Amino acid sequence: MSRTKSEGRSGLRLRIQAEAENRPGIYRFLGPRREILYVGKSIRIRTRLLSYFRAREGKARELLRVASGVEWEYVPNEFEAILREFRLIRAFRPRFNVQHRRYRRFAWIRVTCEAAPRIVATRTPRPDGSRFFGPFPATRSLPHVLRELAAVVGLRDCPARTPITFADQFDLLSVPRSPGCPRAELGSCPAPCASACTREEYLRGVEEVTAFLEGQSDAPLERLQYRMDAAVQSRGFEVAARLRDREARLRALRDRVVEAEREREALSFVYPVAGAPEGARVYLLQGGRVQLTLDEPPRGDLGARARMAQALRSAAERKPTPPESLAEPQREELFLVARWFRTHPGERSRGIPVETYLEALGEEAGETPTKELSDIPSRR
Ligand code: SF4
Repeated sequence: MSRTKSEGRSGLRLRIQAEAENRPGIYRFLGPRREILYVGKSIRIRTRLLSYFRAREGKARELLRVASGVEWEYVPNEFEAILREFRLIRAFRPRFNVQHRRYRRFAWIRVTCEAAPRIVATRTPRPDGSRFFGPFPATRSLPHVLRELAAVVGLRDCPARTPITFADQFDLLSVPRSPGCPRAELGSCPAPCASACTREEYLRGVEEVTAFLEGQSDAPLERLQYRMDAAVQSRGFEVAARLRDREARLRALRDRVVEAEREREALSFVYPVAGAPEGARVYLLQGGRVQLTLDEPPRGDLGARARMAQALRSAAERKPTPPESLAEPQREELFLVARWFRTHPGERSRGIPVETYLEALGEEAGETPTKELSDIPSRR
């Protein structure tokens, strides 16, 4: 890292020319009170910093006008530069940074933990026993599509405070209640508010919705298809068209949920990245989160390799924190990591299953590995 007290524009440039190297890293422009004005990253720090001095207008020019210092630090590779930049911007919210400054709006699908569970959208998941699917970038239509899904499978969408008495809880002393809304009459809710269904009957809908969002069942789509066929046969083409659109929305929602889950689960491996001059750095990813960062021990240093194997094994055996229990910046980091591997398929193919990597460390056999660990071919 390089630091400076307040220095003029030409002083800044001279120091960068003299000290900065063309290696991956992150840099910070500082204001007069040493506050961070801007955080950036580059795989060639020197070239990037000097490019600011060629700017004739725009943000770069303005930044140089107000900055009284710059500092930078090197990191072993671009992946780490992206993570470090994100974390610094999140921590300091520099005023010249636009990207990463604000939290993106995420939403979750929540199957509530209630006597008669509901399916709702939420932005603030809490580990209260509910089942969560997500997160996804929030869309305005999500609550509406979830109400449609609830109507297809027969789940209530009334407030949590609605009194629920299942038919199998009803006794002779109970006062019969009328359904609290027209959905009972329309047949889209089994009306547990009016003791019109047993708990078991109601929970079948919950199971159906859960299996659907897990990608295990198409039952809600088949129900809509059945109703669509019936509408066509009775020449109710407008109704059939509405049902077709609803079916498309539910299918799109399910595909999004399943794809997001699949992508996150697939991001569980050891990711070794060769770097100079520090040597290879190794990341353990679980469900899209970087759980552990280690430097690859030198070849032949069996003690260090054994310690690395132990650290990797312990971290891999720990159950990862579910996304809904993560803090907001950590959740957003999931998307950052996923985007990195999506846009860099070559990096994705470096991923090595943990067991394969541990075998190569010679942990079980106690043999001396014959190659650099970062050279292990991926078997994914
Ligand atoms: S019928 Fe009763 S349980 Fe169903 S949505 Fe309406 S108020 Fe809620």
